[in-house]
Amino acid sequence: MSSSAHKQPSRLILATRNASKVTELQAILAEADLGLELIGADAFPEIPDVKETGTTFAENALLKARTLAHETGIPAIADDSGLCVDVLGGSPGIFSARWAGRHGDDKANLDLLLAQLSDIDSEHRAAHFACAAALALPDGTERVVEGSLRGTLRHTPSGTGGFGYDPVLQPDGDTRTCAEMTPEEKNAISHRGRAFRALVPSIRELLG
Ligand code: IMP
Repeated sequence: MSSSAHKQPSRLILATRNASKVTELQAILAEADLGLELIGADAFPEIPDVKETGTTFAENALLKARTLAHETGIPAIADDSGLCVDVLGGSPGIFSARWAGRHGDDKANLDLLLAQLSDIDSEHRAAHFACAAALALPDGTERVVEGSLRGTLRHTPSGTGGFGYDPVLQPDGDTRTCAEMTPEEKNAISHRGRAFRALVPSIRELLG
């Protein structure tokens, strides 16, 4: 038997404690069949959450991946994402998770956004989800790529799937909101799916 038969698969940390995101990313990366063991950041409870001090999705994704790779000695991938509304000049953007003040209060964030846009007609409700996906190695090597999903914001939420702003974003070319899609349908077109699929060649190049 060759020595490679005993080789442990390389490990890769997903730098998020958000369970919905871990599930989404595992599904997206499983498609790529990288032969890597994917571990959630929850496996390292002693490492404090990284402060998102960057001013762009790419900076914040790199900050998260870089910190985890440095602290654990294991390559890490991270994402930073949000909703960018044209008529709001790209906001909530990097503030999407805390738009109503409290981090992660999806309902309050959605209610505030809909109130802010209440006088805006459908033709001016264009928006997109944006995602930066970063890979960082303990030796300081880094890569970052981006993906987006364009659509229109509904006036009222619809659907029970997904999370965050999914019930109001209707992707271009579809009649449903993201919250009315199956996870597989959403992953196939989502900003996160696109960003992480774009990162796969770098993961193969550096970890394959
Ligand atoms: P992050 O965890 O810092 O990347 O913040 C992401 C925030 O952007 C979430 O809390 C949501 O409000 C929003 N967001 C990002 N991706 C999605 C998505 O796929 N659907 C709905 N909302 C999203």
